[in-house]
Amino acid sequence: FYQPIVEVASGRITKAEALLRWHHPLRGTLSPGLFIPLAEEARLIDGIGNWVFDQALDSIARCHEMFGCTIQMSVNKSPLQFGAGTRDAWLERMERDPSLTGCIAVEITEGMLLSDAQTVRERLLDYRNRGIEVSIDDFGTGLSALSDLKRFDIDYLKIDRSFVQQLAENASDRALTEAIGVMAHKLGIKVIAEGVETAVQRDLLAGLGCDYLQGYLAGRPVDADTAAKEYL
Ligand code: C2E
Ligand code: CA
Ligand code: CA
Repeated sequence: FYQPIVEVASGRITKAEALLRWHHPLRGTLSPGLFIPLAEEARLIDGIGNWVFDQALDSIARCHEMFGCTIQMSVNKSPLQFGAGTRDAWLERMERDPSLTGCIAVEITEGMLLSDAQTVRERLLDYRNRGIEVSIDDFGTGLSALSDLKRFDIDYLKIDRSFVQQLAENASDRALTEAIGVMAHKLGIKVIAEGVETAVQRDLLAGLGCDYLQGYLAGRPVDADTAAKEYL
């Protein structure tokens, strides 16, 4: 499924996040919270993850063809997809098709920055060299240090929904959101707010300097055909 991400400056949908669903024959549509941990445990996550990237690349190509527009797809990657023996098979396809450059952002969590694993650093550097952007998901819930953001050359911070939910009522959430924005912008990083559900939240976040908004207000995650119809 894809959920739109709106650019505040233009009010247009310029990005989308790929959110995995499992169409189970008996249980219906299952959310990733139910099966990603199992896929990780069963060591299936690398294959599934590469499949998600492939789907996202298909959708980018179809967008180009059908609408002549460029949408950047943001794809989640779990820490285990950086482990030894994992491989970004989708990179080969990006190499063959230069029109895909700049069209992918990889979402990782703060914890990845804490791990000093050489493989993570090398992968992120490789992404940078290939024009693939990197977002820190659920920002504010983990323990990453400012120096890590600088060191790893991060492109986007995604402010976690827990800061957005109570924004209208809670002055300290507003202060934190604003401070994250100021810090990010000083480091040349853009800010995406997650879980934006109301017009009040949207207006507050725009006023606090957020660059992009994502949430049910702009649109729910839907399948590719519905996304093309409703969001493009
Ligand atoms: P996430 O990356 O933080 O994704 C955002 C989650 O918030 C999604 O849940 C989305 O449907 C939901 N959401 C979006 N807007 C709103 C809103 O306005 N209000 C509320 N209440 N919720 C909103 P979803 O799709 O169930 O995904 C859950 C998590 O599963 C994701 O959290 C991500 O960590 C993981 N995930 C999803 N797809 C993949 C994938 O392809 N690979 C991996 N490794 N993890 C994935
Ligand atoms: Ca995400
Ligand atoms: Ca998130």
